[in-house]
Amino acid sequence: MNAEVRILEPGQLETPLGEIRFLFLPPGNTFACRAERLRFLSKGHPLGDYLAFLAQLANAQQDALNRFPSTPLPDTKEQALCRKQGTPLLAARSWPRNPAWRAGLKMILQQMREVALPPAGNVAVDGLMQANETRLDETADRIVAGDFADISPQELPFVAAALQVYWVHMTSSLGEETFGRSEQGGICPVCGSFPTVGIVKSGGAEQGLRYLSCSLCSSQWHMVRVKCSICESTRGIDYHILEGSNGAVKAESCDDCNSYLKLLYLGKDPQMEATADDLATLGLDMLMNEAGKIRSGPNLLFHPGRPH
Ligand SMILES: [Zn+2]
Ligand SMILES: [Zn+2]
Repeated sequence: MNAEVRILEPGQLETPLGEIRFLFLPPGNTFACRAERLRFLSKGHPLGDYLAFLAQLANAQQDALNRFPSTPLPDTKEQALCRKQGTPLLAARSWPRNPAWRAGLKMILQQMREVALPPAGNVAVDGLMQANETRLDETADRIVAGDFADISPQELPFVAAALQVYWVHMTSSLGEETFGRSEQGGICPVCGSFPTVGIVKSGGAEQGLRYLSCSLCSSQWHMVRVKCSICESTRGIDYHILEGSNGAVKAESCDDCNSYLKLLYLGKDPQMEATADDLATLGLDMLMNEAGKIRSGPNLLFHPGRPH
């Protein structure tokens, strides 16, 4: 795990941009797929209990999504304006959240009450059940702004899970044609959030193409390979894997801005899922941090600053 292996990405001819499918919106069973993958990854994993807990949380998210009430969405005029300006239509930081997001949180908490959690988890669930609207909304504001400093690591996954459900609900209520390309290639064209990881697709028309997977709404958007998603530099890009791994997950680092983003190569393992496989490969993050690189992709279920 300590040895750093550098692999040069083979130069690749990309399909002309206009012919590439630009956006994949999250499917209706997004959280069920994530739960299944987390359950699989939890078996025999050093963080098995943690991944199994997240599998139950993802199940609760799917249940909340299935029962989610219909909520207001931007009208066609707003849609056209955002497409024209290249701004995210459901921008996480400025979109006026409907109170339904808190109803979704309640559904998740109620379901997680039925699950055997460690004492700290039960305290977090009870605390959030009793929290007033202002505290919940302040916590949500911090999460969508990427400001985790004052958020309890125990409460973070539950509140973030509810926000993900609300955004996936809105996103999947609109069609792909609703959204235009974003001015900034490294942020989600749907909600303006940063990607958790990149995914290199395998098979079909998207063979070998890289899509970035949104940390909030789970949309995937196209970005050319061998390019930093933060500063868009194409120089000084390196690839790192954990010693002994099959190379299905690599960290793509950038010398210009000193950041890195993980990439999942579906050709090596088609079952991989962005959120789940990111959390199952935190060893690669430790390696990158030891090398002085800063992680650019948030995983909203994991507190970046504090140990679990
Ligand atoms: Zn998004
Ligand atoms: Zn960079």
